[in-house]
Amino acid sequence: MAQVETYKFQAEINQLMSLIINTFYSNKEVFLRELISNASDALDKIRYMSLTEPSVLDTEKELCIHLIPDKVNKTLTIRDTGCGMAKHDLINCLGTVARSGTKQFMEMLQAGADVSLIGQFGVGFYSAYLVADRVVVTTKHNDDEQYIWESSAGGSFTITLDESGEKLSRGTKIVLHMKDDQLEYLEERKLKDLVKKHSEFIGYPISLQVEKTEEKEVDEDDSMSDDEKKDEDKKEDGPKIEEVKEVDDKKKKKVKEVKKELELLNKNKPLWTRDPKTVTKEEYSSFYKALTNDWEEHLAVKHFSVEGNFEFKSLLFTPKRAPFDLFEPKKKLNNIKLYVRKVFIMDNCEELIPEYLNFVKGIVDSEDLPLNISREHLQQNKIMKVIRKNLVKKCIEMFTELAENKEDFKTFYEAFGKNLKLGIHEDSQNRQKLAELLRFHSSQTKGEDWTSLKEYIERMKEGQEFIYYITGESRKAVASSPFIEKCTKKGVEVLYMTDPIDEYMVQQLKEFEGKKLVCVTKEGLKLPETEEEKKKKEELKASFEALCKLMKDILGDRVEKVVVSDRLGDSPCCLVTGEYGWSANMERIMKAQALKDNSMASYMVSKKTMEINPENSIVNELRKKAEANKADKTVRDLVWLLFETALLTSGFSMEEPHTYASRIHRMIKLGLSIDEEDLASEKTETTSQENKVEESPAAESLMEDVD
Ligand code: ADP
Repeated sequence: MAQVETYKFQAEINQLMSLIINTFYSNKEVFLRELISNASDALDKIRYMSLTEPSVLDTEKELCIHLIPDKVNKTLTIRDTGCGMAKHDLINCLGTVARSGTKQFMEMLQAGADVSLIGQFGVGFYSAYLVADRVVVTTKHNDDEQYIWESSAGGSFTITLDESGEKLSRGTKIVLHMKDDQLEYLEERKLKDLVKKHSEFIGYPISLQVEKTEEKEVDEDDSMSDDEKKDEDKKEDGPKIEEVKEVDDKKKKKVKEVKKELELLNKNKPLWTRDPKTVTKEEYSSFYKALTNDWEEHLAVKHFSVEGNFEFKSLLFTPKRAPFDLFEPKKKLNNIKLYVRKVFIMDNCEELIPEYLNFVKGIVDSEDLPLNISREHLQQNKIMKVIRKNLVKKCIEMFTELAENKEDFKTFYEAFGKNLKLGIHEDSQNRQKLAELLRFHSSQTKGEDWTSLKEYIERMKEGQEFIYYITGESRKAVASSPFIEKCTKKGVEVLYMTDPIDEYMVQQLKEFEGKKLVCVTKEGLKLPETEEEKKKKEELKASFEALCKLMKDILGDRVEKVVVSDRLGDSPCCLVTGEYGWSANMERIMKAQALKDNSMASYMVSKKTMEINPENSIVNELRKKAEANKADKTVRDLVWLLFETALLTSGFSMEEPHTYASRIHRMIKLGLSIDEEDLASEKTETTSQENKVEESPAAESLMEDVD
């Protein structure tokens, strides 16, 4: 007897199995799609190996999937002639090694998600336990013996060397011992429907073992004795004789035979090889679902062929939602499948599509590539470059078509807007085309509405040269930012860029249709202005020059310079950054990313310029005070308060909030006329509120803390 080895399921997998077994799910039928999809993957693997090493197929030439229902034993068998699993694969893949998606899938299940999502989380195999209480996997890999994996859940599984004598040529046989209330999955009709529904476009023949009854006349002498009949019944595939009728001719008998035969279920030719005009929406939808394991329909499809020096056909889909791990580093997305003359070559072909389009699913079928092309060769292949270029072009076309429908485009943009922005950052060739797809909220859009850059340009004011934008943490934060006050007053529209990736994107985009993109939080902002406004500004600049100089002296190297602002409406002041340095928002993002290398951070953190608003009453009063007495300590202190407050309103973080807080607290005490005890007797009483700020003892102490 072969030794039976028992293994414990990895903890999360065990939890998942319990959940699958003990929870009521209405959508149990997905198990079949999952197991067929695994079989198809295993067939893909062996076929791919055979391209460089044809002898791997010596053990079994036929690449196929069989479904065998057995009502007597209440089992459903799924048999494939794929690559099979070596012993260590059985142990690792079916139980002991955790899958990254297990936990997330369980959380989603518990939150009410549909169990049919299972395939997307890399744990599809366990869906077998939706319908079976015992699963037996027999498998033969070319490089190993035949092994049996078996489990009735409950925390463990066994592995046994198969010495039964029933040899598989190569591949895997999964026997599901069905739960008593799941016997409907042994019905021919049901299985046919399910394959049609979920697996019609699997690229290998799927055959169902069906029972066919035939009437046949046989010579009486040829018919079997009762004993022989019984023996025959036991054989699985032999004809079953149900009834023997005597016919007129004494020598002949009519026999009803029940024969088991295989019936091919997926007869359609590959969808992409058909003329797009003949393909229905439903066909695209079921093809998409079979291709991707998605339970929802696709959002958009592009079906095309390219002719010329190199020929290929392709079918591309945009899903409705982003996968749960779209931006996970190192995640290999199962995006575009490569075929050569209808033969599947490989999945995840990175050379076919740039990373930013990794959410697009589909297939490409080339007429020109050699069948035995290896991954290494793909990288330099000229044909691949041509295909890639065309796929990008067609994807952008597909998105542009989507943009014609507001609802659909919203769905798309919410799911994949980040990808477009990544594209703008990375793909210089298609930058402008991709930029046409960008959408933003702005100081002039209402509610959920957004604007494209094209629409922005159409609305630009006369004399407006640039496209203005502001970056920040949220729509609310930027909408009330001091930086856009003047723009709002002048009716100049400002785009709100509140996605962290916008900062990176806009660095590369720089301009759209010849119009420069200008950040309103950075130095050197030029707003459209009249001659009169220009003149007034010059005058103001001159009259505030002394205050600017004084403020710079007080703030030292915390600011690069202090200047009269062009962009403020109501606020007294703001802090802007250099045109090519980090914005306040970028500084926030980089801090959040916990940049380890502080030297790099301090190098990139740009110097701040303080801008003051000459029309603001605080600033005006401050100027008067400074003119009256340059050494006035209150001026000094208020300058610091203004600086720190501007840090906050301009979107920077404050390095020493406690210093700021104590300054504010003392101001509050002043407001409440609370004198510090030990200083109470030092100064004389004053009457006006203003003088109090200037000369009260608390104000004195306020100043001492400043340096
Ligand atoms: P996924 O297929 O998403 O990787 P599954 O839980 O469905 O997750 O399967 C786990 C692994 O088990 C597969 O990755 C594969 O290595 C192996 N496997 C499952 N079914 C088969 C099969 N029919 N033939 C060969 N290997 C298989």
